Amino acid sequence: MPSTITALATPPGQGGIAVVRVSGPEAFAIAARVFTPRNPARRLEQAKGYTAMLGRTFLKGKPLDETVALCFRAPRSYTGEDVVELSVHGGTVMANALLEALYDAGAQPAGPGEFTRRALENGRLSLTQAEAVMEVISANGRQGAALAQAALDGALAKRIGAIQTALQSLNAHLTAWVDYPEEDVPELTPAHLTETLTAQQAQLDDLIAGYGAGAVLRHGVDCVLLGRPNVGKSTLLNLLAGFDRAIVTPVAGTTRDIVEQAVQLGEIRLNLFDTAGVHEAADEIEAEGIRRSWRKLEEAGLVLAVFDASAPLTAEDMAIAEKCARRPALAILNKNDLTDSTEDAAAQLAPYYKKVVSLCARDAASLQTLSAAVAEILGTARLDPNAAQLCSARQYAAAVRARDAVAQAIASQRDGFGLDAAAVCITDALQALCDLTGENAAESTIDEVFATFCVGK
Ligand code: GDP
Repeated sequence: MPSTITALATPPGQGGIAVVRVSGPEAFAIAARVFTPRNPARRLEQAKGYTAMLGRTFLKGKPLDETVALCFRAPRSYTGEDVVELSVHGGTVMANALLEALYDAGAQPAGPGEFTRRALENGRLSLTQAEAVMEVISANGRQGAALAQAALDGALAKRIGAIQTALQSLNAHLTAWVDYPEEDVPELTPAHLTETLTAQQAQLDDLIAGYGAGAVLRHGVDCVLLGRPNVGKSTLLNLLAGFDRAIVTPVAGTTRDIVEQAVQLGEIRLNLFDTAGVHEAADEIEAEGIRRSWRKLEEAGLVLAVFDASAPLTAEDMAIAEKCARRPALAILNKNDLTDSTEDAAAQLAPYYKKVVSLCARDAASLQTLSAAVAEILGTARLDPNAAQLCSARQYAAAVRARDAVAQAIASQRDGFGLDAAAVCITDALQALCDLTGENAAESTIDEVFATFCVGK
């Protein structure tokens, strides 16, 4: 018999209420040992599912707090087990005392993600939905949360299911044809086989492409601000941050080190690294700052390279541009209020950047320009937040394996190999999709998913 577990389900810290969840076969019996209903005629052990009861909780016989007990009966609860959720006044003191009382009464402390794991084991959630739970909790930004919510609603499972069905039907046909040649199974036409496989590959490609953009919406992106001294990096940073975070002066070289700060640009959180001005270093400290700037450039998910539009581009500007080639980089022609035309400079920079914009970092309206350009570069502008997306690195890796196997099946037909070669590849693809959805998932995979969960969920 599974144990009965308990943990704080709300975030620790100050708040109006704190909710302590108890789940397991003994949930009602254990909760009843610490909770006395206000109405003496009622008993918690006999409460029906989906009911609430007002009462008082006790620790070692001493009254703790006025408490509301919410009752759920198996299997109609989050975990699929009997669940009692006890709401006490917020702050950690009351909740911790209540947890102590529940341990005394026989409950075990829940491990990270253990409630959700039980939900999985009791068939209340799929593995992809369990991962989505984690994403909903950790998403920053409404669009990111909507994405994770779509996965939680099972949209991802449905989308993968459609691909699985198409491949399974191909596979059944191929297997019959390969294994029972004497049975007169109608042969699949190569055209139909390739057509079906190509359609599934397109679906998988679409999911894979959306993963990066979805992750950006949920977790933000590491962003580097680059440019030679005095082009307006600090001014731009202040515009993004909404206050004077970096010191802005008309003297070159004040920004020596990497300033780290998170700012929200539209739907995307930028984890900003304002790098030292990239130029000939005057001393060793500055040289180290510059080395770090280049290193950060390699790792960043987004590069904002700033140029001064009011003067011709310099050799140093072009050296920066070359470093940005093939990176997710945006060229910003700043100080466009001081010039009539930025077209020549834009044309010079265009080959090295995903996009070039001109703006004035002193003008708040420039945020709109920046926001649209960044959403375009990172692909978040094209993402439908209500559509299903992959939401973990594990799912992403499985989707890539499935896509590669389908691509191999297509190649095998193009190169004139027999249908049994295609059948082998399709079987591989189906296995990868099974891994993705967690059907027949190994215990180790499930452990890996839940390792990232917080206690209480
Ligand atoms: P950094 O060295 O790249 O960080 O450059 P700063 O942000 O310190 O800016 C250098 C100078 O350019 C400051 O005097 C800023 O006020 C000025 N500046 C920055 N952006 C603009 C802009 O869009 N238009 C104008 N006219 N001046 C700007």
